[in-house]
This record gives sequence, C-alpha cells and structure tokens, in this order.
Amino acid sequence: MILAATVRLGAETISAAEAAGRILAEPIDSTRRHPPADCSAMDGYAVCRADLELASTDNPISLPVVYEIPAGGHAERRLESGEAARIFTGAPVPAGADAVVRQEDTRDHQGRVEIRVAPALHEHVRSAGEDFETGDRLVPAGVVLGAMHLGVLASIGRTIVSVYQRPTVAILSSGDELVEPDRATDSGQIVSSNSYTLAAACREIGARPSYLGIAGDRPEEIESRLRAGLRADVIVTSAGVSVGDHDHVRAVLEKIGCKLRFWGVLMKPGYPLAFGVIESTGALVFGLPGNPVSAAVTFEEFVRPALRKMMGHPALYRPVIRARLTEKLTKRVGRVHFVRVSLEMRDGEWMATPIGNQSSGVLTSMIRGGGLAIFAADSERLEVGDEIDVQILDSGFFEQTERGF
Ligand code: AMP
Ligand code: MG
Repeated sequence: MILAATVRLGAETISAAEAAGRILAEPIDSTRRHPPADCSAMDGYAVCRADLELASTDNPISLPVVYEIPAGGHAERRLESGEAARIFTGAPVPAGADAVVRQEDTRDHQGRVEIRVAPALHEHVRSAGEDFETGDRLVPAGVVLGAMHLGVLASIGRTIVSVYQRPTVAILSSGDELVEPDRATDSGQIVSSNSYTLAAACREIGARPSYLGIAGDRPEEIESRLRAGLRADVIVTSAGVSVGDHDHVRAVLEKIGCKLRFWGVLMKPGYPLAFGVIESTGALVFGLPGNPVSAAVTFEEFVRPALRKMMGHPALYRPVIRARLTEKLTKRVGRVHFVRVSLEMRDGEWMATPIGNQSSGVLTSMIRGGGLAIFAADSERLEVGDEIDVQILDSGFFEQTERGF
C-alpha cells in the first residue's frame, strides 16, 4: 500500500562533479568515439609489421627513425614500409603503421632503431572506438552514479547531468517527557533520540531531513509543529500514535488533511504504525511508534523503501542473507518478529545469535548486532541450527578489515 502511494520525484540538473550517489534520470549516450584514433599503449616505435617478421634477439632488424609523435601530437605523414616512428603512450599511431614495438624490445643508436621482436598485428595499439563509439548507450537511466560512471561521463565531456530529486522529510518528535539531548534530564525525562536516528537514516540514503522539534502531548502543539512540515515530501512523526489517553498524533494528522490508510501492523517491534497521505499534496505521512527500536525498525521496513522509490533508486531493500541460529527462538503465532542478531561467519556459514534484550526500548540492541532476523508471523518455534533470513542494516557490514588478496 505504501509503495502504491509513493511517486518518484521529478528530475533536476546538477553538476556531474556533485552527482556521486545520485540516481541518473536520463540515459547517457556517447557523443564521441573513444579513443578518438588508434593510439599507442606503450612508449616505443610505430612500425609496419611485415618489415619485422624475421626479427628476433639473434636477428635484430634495424630501421631508420623518420619522425617522432609525442602524446597529444600528430604524425607528419604516412609511415612507409622500411621506416619506424618514435611514439609515446597515448599518441596516435600513424597511417601505414600496424603495430607498436615496446621500447624495452629495441635499442636506438644514431637515428636508427634495432628491433629484436616480431610484433603481432596491432600489438600495443589501442584501436579507435574500443572503449565506446558515438551513439553507444554508456549508462542507462536509473543507475546509481558511482565514481566510475562519473569518469565515463567526463570522458564524453558531460559536466552536467539529470538526476532524480531527493525527497525532503519533515521529522517531528512528540511526548511531554522528551527533551533535547543537550538539556539536563531529571528522572522523569527522556532524551529524544528518535529525531537523531531518523534524520541520520534519511541522510544515509540521500534524503533531506528537516527537524520540526519536539511537540508536547497537546493537539494544538502537535498541529502547529506539523503544519511547518506540510511542504515536505514526507512527514515522519514518532510516538503518540498508540491508543493511550495522550496519543493525539493520529487525530491531528487527520485534522491537517491526512487520509490515514492503515494503523497497526502485525509485527514486533513496531505494532502501532500509522500510514497516510496528505490528500491535497500527495505527501506521505508515517506515524512511527515512539519506542526507539520500534521507530528505527519501522523506518527501515516502511519509510526507507518509500524514500528510495521517490528518488528513483533501483534497489529499495536492504540485503538479506541466510544464517543459522545459534539459539532457539520461540513466540506466539500471529506477528512477524524482527529479531536483532549478531552475525558471525563459521566454516563458510553465517551464524546468527540473538542479542540478549529484545525490548523495544533497548536501542543499544541495534548497534550490537547489525542484523535483523525475520521470524515469520506463522512460525512459533525455531531450533538451534535452523536457517533464517537476516536483513543487514549496517551498510558497512560487508566491508573487510582484511585485505582480501
Ligand atoms: P509513546 O508512543 O508516546 O507511548 O512512546 C513510547 C515510548 O517511546 C516512551 O517510553 C517514550 O518515552 C519513548 N519515546 C517517544 N519518543 C521518543 C523519542 N523521540 N526518542 C526516544 N524515545 C522516545
Ligand atoms: Mg508519548
């Protein structure tokens, strides 16, 4: 339902130098040929192969060096049979030549060169257009631009590029008990960590968070802060969305023009999730639960894929691996459980160990693992050694501390 209501944003034109990580909104076709001409891959001598068929270490063949072609230069004239031209890496191979002999296989003296090898046809020559021809599709639309793509774009002289816009995300925290992290807390107060988690999670994928602050548990306060976020592509609130006497978020959302599409998801953590759309603008609204783990997990499972769809990302979801449980898991049938696990490779298999305290208030469980095991709704028991799917939440998970070669 969420993705059906999620529309990809329009494109914008930006400098290619700033485009790393953005998603290409137009196909890139080559406007030139690369290399533009046959050119030398080595420092050495351009030759006519037929002259050197009998050349070897024991039978060096001597040719006159008739001119020189520096990188960026041009041959003075066609190379004739019986001649050699001094050539440097990247310089165009002269007409008439059909191979380059490496400098290491030659000896020069007094305007002549002695060649000790018989080159193959086109040896050490990069042919014109071997990288790409005019009109080749170099990068299709929808690709996430990386360093290599930007290099290819530069090689056809593209300095601006059309990419999908990044969604703006207005983030509101709510709750009378909440204070900002730089404020002193008494025993009744709780630091609002969700605003930080959610803003950083947005930035990590290139979305643009803006912070609406903390609203106390009064409808007017929630409403006035939310109104400041109405121009955003997405509104994300946390807390106040459950069924308690002080949970006003849903009612306020409806008041400001949000049509709620659903409330409550059969999952743990994260049951009290609300989703709706501001009817007049199409902005998506997510009322996330307040518990820090619930807010983080519902963002991962519901908000993040929607944001990625908006920015034209081809891959909406986190990677999933198969792992074996090192402990048994039990629960009641009915809700899918997202179990925080730590992962370890043993004998070529991933092993998943549930983090001790799975309470939705224990945010540190999210940094001790890095994996979210998916304990299916209809299952009530998994044994030691059973296989389970594990989402990898840490984007650095597959990075290596070892060199690997
Ligand atoms: P609520 O949904 O308002 O019942 O909140 C559920 C729990 O989440 C409460 O223990 C809140 O203190 C906590 N909580 C709510 N908002 C935040 C937040 N922004 N940061 C950290 N914890 C929060
Ligand atoms: Mg509350």
